[in-house]
Amino acid sequence: TVDTASLKALDRAHHLHPFTDFHDYAHGDGRIFSRAEGVFIYDSDGNGMLDGMSGLWCCNLGYSQDRIKQAVFDQMQQLPYYNNFFNCSNQPAVELAAELTSVAPEGFDHVFFTNSGSEANDTNIRLVHRYYDLLGKPEKKLIISRKNAYHGSTVAAASLGGMQAMHEQAIGLNYVHHINQPHWFENAEPGEDEDSFGLRIARELEAKIDELGEARVAAFIAEPVQGAGGVIIPPDTYWPELQRICNERDILLIADEVICGFGRTGQWWGSQTYGMQPDLITFAKAVTNGYMPLGGVLVSNKMTDVLMASGGEFAHGLTYSGHPASCAAGLATLAILKEQNIVENAAEHLAPYFQDQLATLKDHPIVGQVRGRGCFAAIELVRDKESRERLAQDSGGAVFCRDTANNLGLMVRQTGNAMIMAPPLICEHSHIDYLMEKLTAALDATAQHYKV
Ligand code: PLP
Repeated sequence: TVDTASLKALDRAHHLHPFTDFHDYAHGDGRIFSRAEGVFIYDSDGNGMLDGMSGLWCCNLGYSQDRIKQAVFDQMQQLPYYNNFFNCSNQPAVELAAELTSVAPEGFDHVFFTNSGSEANDTNIRLVHRYYDLLGKPEKKLIISRKNAYHGSTVAAASLGGMQAMHEQAIGLNYVHHINQPHWFENAEPGEDEDSFGLRIARELEAKIDELGEARVAAFIAEPVQGAGGVIIPPDTYWPELQRICNERDILLIADEVICGFGRTGQWWGSQTYGMQPDLITFAKAVTNGYMPLGGVLVSNKMTDVLMASGGEFAHGLTYSGHPASCAAGLATLAILKEQNIVENAAEHLAPYFQDQLATLKDHPIVGQVRGRGCFAAIELVRDKESRERLAQDSGGAVFCRDTANNLGLMVRQTGNAMIMAPPLICEHSHIDYLMEKLTAALDATAQHYKV
C-alpha cells in the first residue's frame, strides 16, 4: 500500500515538476497517481477520475492496452537496446518506420526518430536548414511560427513556440519569427466574421515573408489545431490561404501533428482534416499511446530526394533515436489503431456525440463559446456573453472550474480562460455522459462562486 502523506512529503522535498510553480508546490499539496484502468486514472488515495485529457493528449487508447505492454516486455527480452547511429538499425525501428509511412499522407516515405515532440521539432530545423544548404540556398534560414503555439520545451522548440511565459524565461533563437494565432473568439475585430478573420490572419504570413525577405525565409511551422494554446479551431478559410502562400512563396510547411496525429481531429492526421500539404510532419505522444517515449519526423519525398542526392553526413541524432522498446510499443499501437478502425470509429460514433453534447453547454451563463473538432474541444468562460468579459482576473475562473472538475472526478485542463478536453478515442457514449455530468456541475459551481 502507498502511504500518500509520506510520498507527497518526499515529492515536495526532492522532485521538481515540469510546468509547476516551485514555490507554490513546495508549500502546497499535489496529487500522486498510482494506477489506471480503461479511461480512468486513480490517485494514491483511491480517487478515480475519468481522463478527459488522454494523459497529456497521448493515451488515445486509454490505459489497459495489454498488447502494447506485452510488446514492450517481449522486446526488452529480445534486444533491450541498441542504437541506430552509423548505419545500424533494429527490427522494430525498421518496421515502425515502414508502418508509419503506410498511414502517412501521400508522399512521405521516410521517418527520422527522436524521443519526444520537442526533439522532433529541433530535428525539423536541422532538416530544413540542411535541405536549403544542399539546394545551394544557405541564406534560407528563417522560420515563421505563431504566437501562443506550443512546439515543445527544448530551447529550440520553445523558440519555435509562441508561449509568452516561455519566451520571458528563454532567449528565442534569432532566426524564428511569429505571426498571430487564428483565435477568432479572442482576437477578432468587433463584427468580424470567422471567415474574414481567418483570411486576414493567414495573410499575416505573406506580410511577414515580405518583411523578412522571401529569399531568407525557409519554413512555416504550425499545429493544424493549436492544442496547448487552447484548442484553437481555425476558421475554414485559414488553412487553404496559408497553403496557397507557402506554395507561391517557396516556403516549406511543417505540420506539428504531435497532438493532432493519430485521429484526434477525425482523420489520421490534422493535415488531412484541414487539407494541408506539409513537407514535414512532427509526431510523438499517441504513436505509442503514451506508454513509451517516442517522437519523430515524417520527411516528404520532396525533401528526401534532395537530402539523399548528395553525400555528407547529417550531423544529428539521439542515443535513443528509434529505441527498440519504444518502437515495439509504436508497432503495437498502430496495429490496434488499424485493426480496430479506432480513428474511423471515433470519427463516426464518438466525435459527433461528444461535440453535440458539449454544444448544449453554450447556453450556460458562464460559457462564451464552445468549439471543437473530432475528439478535441474547448469551452471559453466569461462573465458576460456579449462583451466576453472574463470571469476573474487572469485565468482564475478557469482554474477554479478545472480544480472543481478534478475534485468531482473529471480530469480536464485549463488554458487561459478556456477549459480544454481531449478524451481517449475509445470512450463510449456513457463516458461522455459522465464527462458532461461532472463538467456541468463544475460550471455551475464556478458560476455560483463568481456570482454570475
Ligand atoms: N508539439 C506539440 C504540438 C505539442 O503539443 C507538444 C507537447 O505537448 C510538443 C510538440 C512537445 O512534445 P514533447 O513534450 O514530447 O517534447
